[in-house]
Amino acid sequence: MSGLKIAIDGPSGSGKSTLGKALAQRLCIPYVDTGAMYRAISWAVDDAGLNDDVEQIVAYVQNLQLKISPDSARFQVWVNEIDVTDWLRQPDVGRMAAKVATIKEVRAWMVPLQRAAAIDGGVLEGRDIGTVVLPDADFKFYITSDESTRMLRRAEQMGHKEVVAEVVSDVHERDRVDSTRKHSPLRPATDAVHIDTSSQTVAESLGLMLEEINRQ
Ligand code: C5P
Repeated sequence: MSGLKIAIDGPSGSGKSTLGKALAQRLCIPYVDTGAMYRAISWAVDDAGLNDDVEQIVAYVQNLQLKISPDSARFQVWVNEIDVTDWLRQPDVGRMAAKVATIKEVRAWMVPLQRAAAIDGGVLEGRDIGTVVLPDADFKFYITSDESTRMLRRAEQMGHKEVVAEVVSDVHERDRVDSTRKHSPLRPATDAVHIDTSSQTVAESLGLMLEEINRQ
């Protein structure tokens, strides 16, 4: 299966990361969490004390060195040689990422890095993979699930046992920003296979994806 390019997109909490990692493991191909790449540069932008000045942010990002290890067991990201992986899952980093990801020049800088990561094949997971990063992917999946399920999953990721106000605002705000932004908004590619994971186990959703891949 080497060389195979698989695009997975969907809103936050849809289950796409879990499925992306499982699929990459099953097919023995690299896994690239493109959201973590946006989170990493946003972490750096914040660390540099840059907040709202788009020109400054763009100039700063264009000079960053971003390195990844495309491993489904532990996807790691380095910014200017610093391993930032452990800091990326904080909710405020996610919110900043959604903001920085609206900037056209930032996306134009990021997309070639993501394409390069997929040069020998891999599962790329994000918001614009099937539409922009890999429009020629061998397989495209668009993963959704109902809002209450997504909220619960996000709550678990954020270390809560139940859905709290912070989770609701996080999911709503990032969905809003990601799907309404001008450049590369979250959209299913026209040729994507839609999978609704609301009432499916991971094994069931993964089975559907593998069925689709094995059919060709
Ligand atoms: O997937 P994750 O929640 O880690 O992504 C963080 C943010 O990065 C998203 O809310 C989105 O704004 C941005 N993102 C993006 N394009 C991608 C992946 C992530 O704009 N391909």
